[in-house]
Amino acid sequence: MRTGGVSAAPYDSLNSSFAVGDEVAAVTENLARLAARAGVGPARLLFVKQVHGARVVEAVKAAPDTEADALWTDVPGTAVGVRTADCLPILIEDPRGRVAAVHAGWRGVISEIVARTVEQLVERGGRPAELKVAIGPCIQRCCFEVDGELPGRFEAAFGAGVIHHPAGKAKVHLDLPRAVQQTLTRLGVPEGHVVALPHCTMCDGRFFSHRREHGITGRHLSFITCAP
Ligand SMILES: [Zn+2]
Repeated sequence: MRTGGVSAAPYDSLNSSFAVGDEVAAVTENLARLAARAGVGPARLLFVKQVHGARVVEAVKAAPDTEADALWTDVPGTAVGVRTADCLPILIEDPRGRVAAVHAGWRGVISEIVARTVEQLVERGGRPAELKVAIGPCIQRCCFEVDGELPGRFEAAFGAGVIHHPAGKAKVHLDLPRAVQQTLTRLGVPEGHVVALPHCTMCDGRFFSHRREHGITGRHLSFITCAP
């Protein structure tokens, strides 16, 4: 949720992003609070510059301005995080000693950034059947209206189950968490290892929503810590 920080409106209050027009001092304090919650020092809470791509990087070899949308670490006592406001924050725990954080909007979902991230974990000894995944608050199918060619592309990639036709509405809605779930199932991650929170950032005012606030809002930070 967006509470618990020091940023003023329209970034109130736990905004994690320096790139949305908020005060630097406020964001720095918010990140310090989030790092404390993660159980790490502020310098051990790592993130990257998200660009709606499909690049995955090793966090300790990246910088905050490295362009990527997923990062992983195997350094104990280090946390990786992604910033979102409607996009999907996806956190992955590999019990063989790695954690990953993924930012995915519709571009990231259809370019399979989650699969790219799981592949990097598997290349280093991870097993899909052991991975545990959490999908955080994001724009859900109740609110994610799309048009043009997108519905067709998603149906081709993930099947008709990710397309919804709400009664009385001309536009169709997409179910992005369901598409990610399908990717994970295909890769061999057990369904019981995936928790998808039901909260919709657009219709639940406790969350930052890029769509609802027309781009002028804060960003949540979703993070996962590599156990010390
Ligand atoms: Zn909604």
